Amino acid sequence: MSAHVESSPDDFRSVLASVDKRGRRRWLHVHLVAGVWSRRRTVLSLLLIAFYLVLPFLTVGGQPALRIDLPAGMFWIAGHGFRPGDLSYLLLLLLMLIVGTLLAVALFGRVFCGWFCPHNVFLEQVFRRVERWTQGGAIARARAAAGRWTPERIGRAALKWLLFALIAGALANAMTALFTGTEAYRGGLILDPVAHPAAAVFWTVFFGLILFNFGWFREQTCTIVCPYGRLQSVMLDPHALTVAYDPRRGEPRRPLPQRTPDAPAGDCVDCKLCVAVCPTGIDIRNGNQLECLHCTACIDACDQVMAKIGRPRGLIDYRSEAELAGSPRRWLRPRTVLYAVVLAGLATAFALRLAHREPIQVTAQRLAVLPQYVTDADGGRAVRYVVPLALTERSGRAHRLRLELPPELGARLVLVPPVIALPADGREQAQPIIDVPVAQVGDGRRSVPLRVIGEDGTVVELPLRLQRP
Ligand code: SF4
Ligand code: SF4
Repeated sequence: MSAHVESSPDDFRSVLASVDKRGRRRWLHVHLVAGVWSRRRTVLSLLLIAFYLVLPFLTVGGQPALRIDLPAGMFWIAGHGFRPGDLSYLLLLLLMLIVGTLLAVALFGRVFCGWFCPHNVFLEQVFRRVERWTQGGAIARARAAAGRWTPERIGRAALKWLLFALIAGALANAMTALFTGTEAYRGGLILDPVAHPAAAVFWTVFFGLILFNFGWFREQTCTIVCPYGRLQSVMLDPHALTVAYDPRRGEPRRPLPQRTPDAPAGDCVDCKLCVAVCPTGIDIRNGNQLECLHCTACIDACDQVMAKIGRPRGLIDYRSEAELAGSPRRWLRPRTVLYAVVLAGLATAFALRLAHREPIQVTAQRLAVLPQYVTDADGGRAVRYVVPLALTERSGRAHRLRLELPPELGARLVLVPPVIALPADGREQAQPIIDVPVAQVGDGRRSVPLRVIGEDGTVVELPLRLQRP
């Protein structure tokens, strides 16, 4: 089978397979491949597609399993709501993401790109399938693309784009729900964009981006836009598992018709099927490359060829650079152990913090009015504090709250109205006035707990520093 993308051993490091030497787009007509790895990826992809589509509608304890609610300035993970003010949680999550990525790459290379990335899952399992169904296999599509626009070609292209648009619309629904919630939808459609302007804007943007990405931009998202592809080259080490060609076994490559008893030949018959099935159009025989997604399509393709010529499978396979050089596979290495330990520590810290998380966050914004001496009702001297409080609800339940100071302080606390109504996931402000007898203020460094008490028994304490005027 002939490949439609030429790859030259000389220019593969400097020229993208999807761009010609004059910088113009070279369309990849990727061949379909079947095999063990393809079947495994298909099964996982179907599960992932179902997961990605229902994820915006999943809840944990009545709250979103995942939502990035930009209009409300909140995001949700596993039923827990976070705001930008929850810096420690955000930091821990970010660190877990970074260390988890380092660990995954050190062990399995670009396993995320090839197996889990929504871009590749939907491109390979949905959009390319629709394309094959409407416009035929890679050879038919390449021939049609090189020919004239006939009524049949126009009809097939129109059907493809119509189906693409319908799928992009469904995906835009899921993406929009992830950012704005599901309230805007009735029967799966945003029927009233005026009542839900944020959802309508998100949907339109997502629809356009999805159609552009899967219909036209495709592999360039991986090879040009995605920063992860760039980062992986610095994360990989010689023991990381990659999809790799074994040159010791494959070289010198030689097509079957050119093989003679006198000419040395490795197992590679230079059929270029591995290139023809590659979604980024690269030649894996050139070694590890930035564009390789570790999708395993070339493993299946080459295994088919090996089966046909009676050679063992695995000329292209999962292996590390060290294995290619003759070393054994090593999962346990200083860096993988270190990453795993750090990740476990971060996950434990995150889980503990989450378990002891206050349902209400209370912060004293600042002293609006500096402490001042006043005369209290009994004619004694007191120091008056005005404490602007910011209260944030983060358990998804509404609260009615009152404030309390330790009775032994003998302080007078005035809050108007005396009960703070804090809506679920909402924010509220209050400004109590607190008169503390001068004798209790002491040297101005004493700290007393201001208690915020809910009707359901929730108690949150805020340390209040009793400064002197
Ligand atoms: S599919 Fe296998 S035999 Fe064919 S060119 Fe690629 S590595 Fe060589
Ligand atoms: S070289 Fe192989 S594993 Fe890498 S992207 Fe191409 S087909 Fe997938």
